[in-house]
Amino acid sequence: MSTSDNAAAKLHPETRLVHAGTMRSQFGETSEALFLTQGHVYDSAEQCEARFLNKDPGFQYARFSNPTVAMLEGRMAAFEGAEACRATATGMAAVTAAVMAQVRAGDHVVAARALFGSCRYVVEDHLPRYGVASTLVDGTDLAAWRKAIRPNTKVLFLESPSNPTLEIIDIAAVAEIAKAAGATLVVDNVFATPLFQRPLELGADLVVYSATKHIDGQGRCLGGLIVGSKALIEGDIQTFLRQTGPAISPFNAWVMLKALETLPLRVAKQAENATKVADWLAAHAKPSKVIFCGHDSHPQAAIIARQMSGPSTLIAFEVPGGKDAAYRLLNACKLIRISNNLGDAKSLIVHPATTTHQRFSPEVRADMGVTDGMIRLSIGLEHADDLIADLERALAKV
Ligand SMILES: *Cc1c(COP(=O)(O)O)cnc(C)c1O
Repeated sequence: MSTSDNAAAKLHPETRLVHAGTMRSQFGETSEALFLTQGHVYDSAEQCEARFLNKDPGFQYARFSNPTVAMLEGRMAAFEGAEACRATATGMAAVTAAVMAQVRAGDHVVAARALFGSCRYVVEDHLPRYGVASTLVDGTDLAAWRKAIRPNTKVLFLESPSNPTLEIIDIAAVAEIAKAAGATLVVDNVFATPLFQRPLELGADLVVYSATKHIDGQGRCLGGLIVGSKALIEGDIQTFLRQTGPAISPFNAWVMLKALETLPLRVAKQAENATKVADWLAAHAKPSKVIFCGHDSHPQAAIIARQMSGPSTLIAFEVPGGKDAAYRLLNACKLIRISNNLGDAKSLIVHPATTTHQRFSPEVRADMGVTDGMIRLSIGLEHADDLIADLERALAKV
């Protein structure tokens, strides 16, 4: 039973997202089936033995694999043009497995300092507890990456664009540094989405996603994905996942599988809306700063032009007057809801300094560019004019 279709590689990405990975049961269903089962029965004791010896290609137990989960993995691998993919219960399970499975006590990890809060926690606090040293660098400074490399460096980890300041890291350049050091590069590609950035083509070894965000796209389920070579995914990472158990529920995998079919349509529309809102914000007198990957004014517009084919669906902007002004704006929004999720069909707004980045000291926040007046906006599928009207009313309160 094949989970990734070789013929699919010749088809366009949109087509792969609708068809790749599909495995039909004896009933020939049109839509992919939800196999809500913990285990499988065998025709004979001999077949059961063969399955345990990996000599028979079927399924055994849902912590290891499941037909619906395998369809999601096959579809995502085909979409990314990757050899293999594994799905996990959450984005954090994907990040943790991708990094932890590759290291042991005595190894060293280098990561960009502008990371999603929990990712930074894993690198900064968790790895050292197990004897894996870690160094955080300014990801935009290539000399800092080179300087941080040690003989025992095994993994480089970055996120680009970063949360919430949309800082960009030159992925191809960091991939070269990783290669020269004999280390692997893991890229968290959530903010760019798989549509607008292809880290594997830029030289990354593994790409991780929180499928919770744009891939579900409708705020329903948690999920994670790890994409890369067979050698990496089917080696230590698969062992880590099977033995430690962060398996995705088949139901959640089914939601993600069906969501992949509409991902290009949704992300294109969200990006189009985000461009309209960002243009409007940049022309408005109130915000003291607007950061958007589609604007020439982005400090790293040259790298964006090289490595991204779209602007992401997130906007960061700053209002004068710090936290009070930011709170007045958030509280005045009626259509755009206050939430720390992102990539959703519903536009969402959040104040990073008091939520996602609350645990950092004011100095670290300042270093990361997270000011008290900064606001993060995730643009959804509403009509852009309604979003602009909501923001216009809210900005009047600042
Ligand atoms: C949300 C997010 C994660 C974690 O994903 P979960 O599904 O919440 O576990 C990791 N990285 C980035 C950039 C995210 O936005």
